[in-house]
Amino acid sequence: MNNQAAAATTRPSWETEAYDDTCCAHADRSIPEGDTTGEEQIAERHNALVLQRWAPGGAGVGTGVARGQRTVFIWDLDETIIIFHSLITGSFARKYDKDVVKATELGKQMEELLFRVLVTYFFYYDLSSTTYQHISDILNAESKDDSLLSYSAPFAWGYNTMHSRSSSSLASPPGGDDERWLAARYRKVETLYVAHQHDTAALLGPNLRKNWRQLQENIESFSERWLDVARTCLSVIGARLNCENVIVTSTRLLPALAKLLLYDFGAFFPIENVYSAAETGKKACFERISLRFGRAANYLVLGNGKEEEAAATQLGIPHWKIACRYNLEMLYRALDANVM
Ligand SMILES: [Mg+2]
Repeated sequence: MNNQAAAATTRPSWETEAYDDTCCAHADRSIPEGDTTGEEQIAERHNALVLQRWAPGGAGVGTGVARGQRTVFIWDLDETIIIFHSLITGSFARKYDKDVVKATELGKQMEELLFRVLVTYFFYYDLSSTTYQHISDILNAESKDDSLLSYSAPFAWGYNTMHSRSSSSLASPPGGDDERWLAARYRKVETLYVAHQHDTAALLGPNLRKNWRQLQENIESFSERWLDVARTCLSVIGARLNCENVIVTSTRLLPALAKLLLYDFGAFFPIENVYSAAETGKKACFERISLRFGRAANYLVLGNGKEEEAAATQLGIPHWKIACRYNLEMLYRALDANVM
């Protein structure tokens, strides 16, 4: 099996999102600066239309853009604000005529680091079979009793054999209270995320921190600072009093939180603004977000995938296509010019 084929079959076990490389299916040149073709040209035209309707005096989108109302930016995660799957599969490298082997290596290094963080801090072996749309879905039933952290998994969960009860010296929780057992762990994850969302380095030990910083720099450099552009957009939005950054990802909740920390995006997304569509799909998440922020708010969905685009269209929410870095740059220009 050659390197490309090997990369294409590699898939982290915690991911539920199929690798969506459709955003990377065309051009074979360096990251475009406006001379887009094909799919990217379609994205550019589509986004220009969104912008035109958004602008003061524009036709409005869906129910219209209400000036002065809160605006909620609903972001996809993978291949929208971070580059992960397309590194592992090599599609990012092929699209931009870069070194596929190097790309795959970078992707796998990040995958290994993610796994390490999940196992070390996020109770991966205990929680890998669980997923929730939102952290409040489990914490509503939680007990703040940290002593539950010392109990092994209840039999009822039948979770993975790598950490089976028979190999554990820990007792099961009293009363077979599985929800409390799970909730105590998710509560701990929440505490860790909140404590480190502005300072991931503090979460990692000195050795891991050094490797992480180097890996981050290598991915930034390889992607021609895609992540930096995304961060700039998020920071402009985050600095506005009447705007919200929200994540809706097909990844399960725990790995999504780990990715946000390791790609240094935690500062832009309070944990209550992180939603996983792994179980329910994105449309259900968008509906939940609409209920939370209300009908008066404006919404914009941003992403590279077909699922979020279809769901947004069904709900009458405008969708900003991210087919290449230029689409993020266009967004930044619109934000900077205050026309969005
Ligand atoms: Mg995506």
